Order: sequence, then structure tokens, then C-alpha cells
Amino acid sequence: MRWSAWLAERDALRAERGVQRADPVVRDDTIVDLASNDYLGLSRDPRVIAGAVEAAERYGAGAGASRLVTGTLPVHHELEASLCGLTGWPAALVFSTGYAANLGVVSALTGRGAHILLDAHAHASLHDAARMSRSPYETFPHNDPGALDARLRALDGVRVLVAVESIYSVLGDAAPVDELYAVCRAHGALLVVDEAHGIGVAGAGRGLVHSLGLAGASDLVLTATLSKSLGSQGGAVLTDGTVRDHLVNSARSFIFDTGLAPAAAGAALVAARLVSADPLLARAVHERAAVISERCGIRPAAGVVQSLPTPDPATAVAAREALRANGVLVGCFRPPSVPDGVSRLRITARADLPLSAVDDAATKIATAGRRCTQVAQ
Ligand code: PMP
Repeated sequence: MRWSAWLAERDALRAERGVQRADPVVRDDTIVDLASNDYLGLSRDPRVIAGAVEAAERYGAGAGASRLVTGTLPVHHELEASLCGLTGWPAALVFSTGYAANLGVVSALTGRGAHILLDAHAHASLHDAARMSRSPYETFPHNDPGALDARLRALDGVRVLVAVESIYSVLGDAAPVDELYAVCRAHGALLVVDEAHGIGVAGAGRGLVHSLGLAGASDLVLTATLSKSLGSQGGAVLTDGTVRDHLVNSARSFIFDTGLAPAAAGAALVAARLVSADPLLARAVHERAAVISERCGIRPAAGVVQSLPTPDPATAVAAREALRANGVLVGCFRPPSVPDGVSRLRITARADLPLSAVDDAATKIATAGRRCTQVAQ
């Protein structure tokens, strides 16, 4: 079969299944953006931008090589130290994205003889990491320590890695990390917690794991992204010195990837220091999330991501477009990127927006949500 015919066949298959064609959305700064993950608005903070400029001027536009060749720069070590300060872990290793951090940590700690258990709502990067590891893997029911316990009992004697998120990226619900950790400890399993949506938001900005007093706990590893609350780009693993050393020597997405660009590292460094110094940033984003949940009648979530279910993908797209025309940008998540198959509008709060602007936007979203429900009836 020719490539063009194969591509046409894939396109037809998507249409048949009712999967809407994805189209990258170009940001429009004239409208209120409640679709990004820039929860604290730090990507536009002049101090964060100055951190990027300073690092680029000092070290260049790119790191120029992988970290193990000549791509490790002083700004990477400063960033790793500031991430340790923020999250309370003794060691950090910075990757070029959060995606690469997840690939690296899961695949480097598993392999032959290991088994991987993922929460059913775990991010795509954790699934890809499990595939890359070549270990057998399966999911367990979302946020269900009892089900995890039963599965670990059956895997007695096997080296098991369990991976979950701290705050889930579409529904905004929190994992019962303390219970999951206790179950893992009881069975000698390693728990990896992806704090992509927890850092900057939970635990006064230091993350959910820190708020539970689990920072630095043994047989627990954290991953984070620098591209959400920290307003930059990149990823990190927070751990102890032994695991960091192992990752440096065996995580393929670290070894065979160019080091994080200096500007991204410099920006994230300043952002991590700002979040560490100012717990009011996290409080501000929660205040705005509360306005959105109240206006839209959504039960408040642990995170600052909220979602409004819609009857089908087409209704979700139509609602997003109507809101965009009305000056508000929200996310539109449809299968396969929703954990439960329900198409939804995804609304994220932002600390840097005035409360009045959030209130106004939330009122428009609530109206659009009511229209979606009418469509369904
Ligand atoms: N984990 C989760 C839970 C995420 O939501 C994302 C980003 N969507 C990532 C990892 C990947 O992070 P990055 O964008 O830095 O690659």
C-alpha cells in the first residue's frame, strides 16, 4: 500500500469512529486563556523572562550537546538545587521535558524481571514509558489502593514499579498518595508519583507529596515538569543520590538527549525560587479555581483543573468555539485523551488574572455548559 493511501485510510477510520481532527491552536492574546497549564502565570513574569535572557546570554541559545558530553551547564546544577529546595528532596535530575523524565525514570528502573502497574488515568507518557521498558505492564482501577494491594499481593516476589499522578490532568482529582505509598511499602514496591499538576499548586506550591510529609521518603520517586506552574520547559526527577546516579548512567532519554536549553533552565530556576518564596501564588490560583467551580456548578477539585462534561465530541468542540468567539479560551478534551471516554471542556485557573476577569469568563463558561446540557436533552 502506498503511504498516501495508508494516510487516507487512517483519516477515514478516524472519521468513521467520530474522532475529530486535531488542530494545533495558535494562542490569541486578546482573549482570556483558561486553557493553558501556566497556572501561576509565571511564563509571562518579567523576573522569569529575565532569568531566561540572562542564561541565554551567558550560555548560548542551546546546550549544544547531551548532558554526558558537554551539555551540562552550571545553570542545570543551580536549577536542580532550586528544585530540591522547592520539593524537599535531596537530589534532582533535569531532563529536556517532563515526558522525557517519565520515560527515563520508568524505563531505567524496570526492564527484565520487573512488572509495572499504572493507575488507569495515568498520563500517556507513563504508558509510553512502560512500553519502552519492555516489562509487562497493566493498569489498576483509578485511585484504588485496595485494588493495588490485591494486585501486589498476587505479584509477591516480583520487583514492581507503581506509577500514579499526584493531581490528575483532566479531572483535577488528587491521588490518595499516602495510602498508595503505604500499600507499596507493605509489598516492597517502588512508587513513582508524577507531580506535573501538583507542583506550584498543591501544598502551598511545593506539591502534594511534600504536603503529606513524604518528601525524601524511601522507595518513592517524584517526576515533575517545568512547563506548567513553573512557566518554562523541561522536566525533572526528584529522588536520592543513588537513584540519580543510576538514572545518569542508564536513562536513555537523559543520555541520548541534548541538555535542557539554557533559557528554559534559567527561567525555571527563577520560577522555582519564586514559588518556594511565595506560598501566596498557590493560594491565588486556588481562589480563582473556586470562582470557576462556583459559577459553573462544578464540585471543587484538589487541583486547579476543572472540567465540564459534554454529551459528545462535536458538542464539546462547538462549545469551545462559541466561547472563543466570546473572548474565552478553554481546553476541549475528547477521546482518546480523556480517561473515561467523556468529552469535556477543560478549564484551568490562572493566578495572574484579576478575579473579576475570571468571574466574567466563568459566567460565560457556565452559560455555554448549560447550552451543552440542553443539546443533550
Ligand atoms: N505528565 C503529566 C501528568 C502531564 O500532564 C504532562 C504534560 N501534559 C507531562 C507529564 C509531560 O510534561 P512535558 O509537557 O513537560 O513534556
